[in-house]
Amino acid sequence: MRVRNRKGAPEMMAENPQYVVENPEMFKGKWAEKFGNRHPIHIEVGSGKGAFITGMAQLHPEINYIAIDMQLTVLSYALDKVLALNLPNVQLLHVDGSALTNYFADGEVALVYLNFSDPWPKLRHEKRRLTYKDFLKNYETILVEQGQIHFKTDNCGLFEYSLASMSQYGMILQQVWLDLHADDTFSEKNVMTEYEAKFSSKGQVIYRVEAQFCS
Ligand code: SAH
Repeated sequence: MRVRNRKGAPEMMAENPQYVVENPEMFKGKWAEKFGNRHPIHIEVGSGKGAFITGMAQLHPEINYIAIDMQLTVLSYALDKVLALNLPNVQLLHVDGSALTNYFADGEVALVYLNFSDPWPKLRHEKRRLTYKDFLKNYETILVEQGQIHFKTDNCGLFEYSLASMSQYGMILQQVWLDLHADDTFSEKNVMTEYEAKFSSKGQVIYRVEAQFCS
């Protein structure tokens, strides 16, 4: 979903190169240098305003997180949070998630998160869905062996499509939730995204899958 432009967002991003990566191609294969340690790297594609990634980064200082979104304005809101919390283990990437292999070397990423991705319900837009086979191929390339995708959404159509797309690709669906918030064990550690808070407060069910590549 498109968000209205925020005045001053480009300047704000440019003023914070410690968090906003200006030339991400330069760090392909070198993210450990950028973070200054060899902690596992988890990325969120379509991170929006960053509640999830900053929440996760606070809980898991032993993990490096990279928030990726193609909308500058939403990333600028994520930057607000990173600055307020002063998080050393988060980087923000203003790029299109369809080109991830330009920014990450083979096996450089330990986990891919997709949260409330745009559903693109029309069949002619299937290729834009972040769980379309071409996206899966790129995730597989940049992920460690037997890497995982953790995906949550309130959109039943996109969820159904994604389960089918992932299994057709040969991924193993390790765990599937048809009502995430009804699972007390998971809810305790669940970090909510902005969309998740909004939709679940309206009574929408949240779906989730953990899927693993075989290679
Ligand atoms: N994950 C957030 C935002 C969900 S909205 C949340 O749950 O609250 C989906 C986001 O994905 C939008 O911010 C949109 O800009 C981004 N997005 C969609 N397609 C993308 C792509 N190909 N590459 C990067 N970001 C994308």
